[in-house]
Amino acid sequence: DTATVSHSFQAEVSELLHLMVHSVYSETDIFLRELVSNASDACDKLRYEAIARPDLIGEGEPPQIRIIPNKAAGTLTIADSGIGMERQELIDHLGTIARSGTKAFVQKLAEAKDGTGLIGQFGVGFYSAFMVADRIVVISRRAGENDVWTWTSSGGAGFEVAPASEDDAKRVTRGTEIVLHLKDDAKKYLETYEIERIVTAYSDNIQFPIMLVPEEGEPRQINSASALWQRSKSELTAEDYSKAYKSIAHAFDEPAMTLHYRAEGRYSYAVLLFAPSTKPFDLFEPARKGKVKLYVRRVFITDDADLLPAYLRFIRGVIDSEDLPLNLSREMLQNNPQLAQIRKAVTTRVISELEQLADKDPDNFDKIWAAFAAVIKEGLYEDFERRDKLLSLARFTTTSGERRSLKQYVEGLKENQTEIYFLVGDSIERLKSNPRLEAAKARGVEVLLLTDPVDAFWTSARLEFDGKPLKSLSQGDIDFDPIPVTEPKADDEAQPAADEANTIALIKDSLGEHVTDVKVSTRLTTSASCLVAGSHGPDRELERILSQQAR
Ligand code: ADP
Ligand code: MG
Repeated sequence: DTATVSHSFQAEVSELLHLMVHSVYSETDIFLRELVSNASDACDKLRYEAIARPDLIGEGEPPQIRIIPNKAAGTLTIADSGIGMERQELIDHLGTIARSGTKAFVQKLAEAKDGTGLIGQFGVGFYSAFMVADRIVVISRRAGENDVWTWTSSGGAGFEVAPASEDDAKRVTRGTEIVLHLKDDAKKYLETYEIERIVTAYSDNIQFPIMLVPEEGEPRQINSASALWQRSKSELTAEDYSKAYKSIAHAFDEPAMTLHYRAEGRYSYAVLLFAPSTKPFDLFEPARKGKVKLYVRRVFITDDADLLPAYLRFIRGVIDSEDLPLNLSREMLQNNPQLAQIRKAVTTRVISELEQLADKDPDNFDKIWAAFAAVIKEGLYEDFERRDKLLSLARFTTTSGERRSLKQYVEGLKENQTEIYFLVGDSIERLKSNPRLEAAKARGVEVLLLTDPVDAFWTSARLEFDGKPLKSLSQGDIDFDPIPVTEPKADDEAQPAADEANTIALIKDSLGEHVTDVKVSTRLTTSASCLVAGSHGPDRELERILSQQAR
């Protein structure tokens, strides 16, 4: 066929496919969830584009998903009447890796010796279908277009794209058909009970009807297709929420926190948000984008509306507004006062929910803190309004060896101690042997040991907790004298004052302009000296990080 054009996969795709084909990964079920989720995305996009162009749906089939097993042909087809793909989209979307999660997966794969364990953890989108199929044919018509295209691949190095046959073009009036030629050991996916089992387990929350089209009998809907967040809390179980989280967030772990409520009043909206219990790969991408989905009256609008501040970007879920207009433009997303109001209210609610969790379910709070502390702490210098709340939410590893809140720290203040002390560095181990701890140690004073890169930033703002300033042991003057020593000093008596003055003069002379000042300090007990930053300059650790970044 002269109209057939061959294309190579992007190198990472080939790598991924190689793994899919040779994978001994046993939980192949996830391929169906991936394809159904793509079909659902396509229906979402269609419904969104049809707001401005109703003719795209017109009298045609409403957006839905069909699953069609065919035992004679050995094929399983996942069809959707969604947005569809034109020729170039087929080439771009099904020939490269667009998802950052999948990209990260491939990178991990390069590091790992055996990548199969990683598949289940991440879900690798469309390409996961090659776990169960040795040949895949995609037939697609972009909504409103005349041309219908066929994409074909047996994995390996590449794929072919050609105009669809007349029959195919007649059948596919809008959207996409994915035809999987199942491998011999994957024929079980032709059984309707298998299909139903997987859809119920993973895709029950998909909002569009998923129709099972059996070889005999009538097509029937096999998902409940309800917008779960619109239902009342009392009808829902923990398992319902767990399933919803996995399907909405595309996640494999359990949620560590679930927040479901409806705001009524000037603005009405439903909120269903989750905090994951594990760290996703793209948490530290420079764009710091959140993924909370904005719906308006059950219609998906965008997951790019920054519905929460960047330091809560790990939160997943849905906000569904009753009053916003459906045709929200990009500009409106940024400037709409109602959205701003929703943002503010939901942010406050998420933080108070985290506070309550810390109180009532510390195990799950600890999971969230362990995974996302470095992100949440960005809020300490970005969200002035909520800084105090975030400070009391924070947990720190201290010289006590435990993870403690500042409230706990303050409860353990020593006699005459009026400040909260911290040290910033690369690792707890290295910090522990830091000579600047000596004076504190001798007095039994607890010190926060801060090792996240972000710690150097938020600590550079002069913060207080409960009226006690936070002070870096590597900066400025710290007067430990009023706090009684509880451990004996390693040295004998301190040197007489005259000697001190002479020594200091000598050191000042030899160091010259390299230092601003040389002082006697009470912060050391066994080491002879240490370098500190001036009280008013930037923290030494911040200086170090800034100079690394400038390189
Ligand atoms: P993701 O869904 O995370 O983007 P996938 O690997 O699952 O990654 O899919 C890659 C891309 O292929 C999608 O982003 C989409 O653009 C396109 N695509 C896949 N399936 C469909 C479909 N049924 N209809 C329209 N586009 C699709
Ligand atoms: Mg996908």
